[in-house]
Amino acid sequence: MSCPTLPSDFPGPPAYVDCWNCPMMKKEMDALELAFRRKTKITAYLVDYIRKYAEELAKRDPKYVYKIMDFCGTHEWTIVHFGLRSVLEMAGVRNVELVAGPGCPVCVTPSYYLEQAMKLAFDGVVIYTYGDVFKLPAINRVNGARSLAEAKARGADVRLVHTFLHAVIDAKKHNKPSVFLGIGFETVAPGYSEAILKGLVPPNLKLMSLVKLTPPAMFYALDMVREKPTDYPISGVIAPGHVSTIVGGKAWAPVAEQYEIPVVVAGFEPNDVLTAIAEILKQLKNGEHKVVIEYVRAVKWEGDLKAQSSINTVFETVDSAWRGIGYIPKSGLALRERFRQYDALEHFGIPDLTPERWQYDLPPGCKCAEVNLGKAKPTDCPLFMKACTPDRPIGPCMVSVEGTCAIWARFGGGGLALEIAKEIGIAV
Ligand code: SF4
Repeated sequence: MSCPTLPSDFPGPPAYVDCWNCPMMKKEMDALELAFRRKTKITAYLVDYIRKYAEELAKRDPKYVYKIMDFCGTHEWTIVHFGLRSVLEMAGVRNVELVAGPGCPVCVTPSYYLEQAMKLAFDGVVIYTYGDVFKLPAINRVNGARSLAEAKARGADVRLVHTFLHAVIDAKKHNKPSVFLGIGFETVAPGYSEAILKGLVPPNLKLMSLVKLTPPAMFYALDMVREKPTDYPISGVIAPGHVSTIVGGKAWAPVAEQYEIPVVVAGFEPNDVLTAIAEILKQLKNGEHKVVIEYVRAVKWEGDLKAQSSINTVFETVDSAWRGIGYIPKSGLALRERFRQYDALEHFGIPDLTPERWQYDLPPGCKCAEVNLGKAKPTDCPLFMKACTPDRPIGPCMVSVEGTCAIWARFGGGGLALEIAKEIGIAV
């Protein structure tokens, strides 16, 4: 089956502009739900454990709320899609709050780079990007366009690809000046570094490295989540599974040690997330703060050493700007000096963003920064599902499949939660 939302002459394999309306995605989601439904005995068991641990914690202080941050956008997707917050509430768990974190790279990419990409596109440079960046709104219009999708509609050559390698293959064919928007977390970085190290990247293709690193962001979010000193801190973290395949469980040890909170690296099925919550509550009950890898089918303690070596050879760690948030120390990857011939900014003479040049880059009223730092919910934003919707996004969190606002807009408000609660015997 080919992608129904793109013209057939798009380069490489299909990439999706509106995945949620795609029959292929629906098929995948149906299969995921079916797999989950076959495991509801395990779900009932896990929910029961969560309830027991939560009750024991409530005996210590009935008013205390244990906030658990699910860092990764895909974990938030699982939680909202399967209605896990509602399932826990129906099970009588009142003292545990799941808080979404900054785990959506598209949401935190500064508008500056998007605007530079649009300028290059209007100057005749081919821009390659992932599908979920296509509709990302910039703060400033470029030639009337607010996004790459609008730039393409005005004649710019913007091409959607699944991976950097697809851009490499396509750029070799046409030999025009080209730029790949390298947005992502540690998970995508080896794809960039290996293509460079293996000499696959043609001279006409440059990389705009916008890779962000997750552990520094987690530290930052844990510090910032308390708006007021009286707010409850984060009591535990569900660490990102895919990122951890690269960085390993060890990357989260400093978080557990410094904040004295449990960290569980979890997979993305609903029972993975419930297992992580149960483990965090168990540790809290026992006064422990360890890193536990629940996602053992994919993650090792050391991570992927080959990928880490490849990344470290090509990139260096730099202070990096996060959209609406500002600079987080050592939270980005830039090409090392000896690989600068691949650097899009250097090649096209574009000055990089600096702390002095960075400006607040969210539209008026948008609370994406607070949402990404776990300080607000999408429903706290006055624009949510009024002016800002998945079809007409105003802020960056309403665009990507990993954006908290987009997830809440698509799947919030019930749906599966009651059905699942009935299946596991906690609702009639
Ligand atoms: S609903 Fe839209 S405007 Fe409001 S925080 Fe989310 S993305 Fe920003």
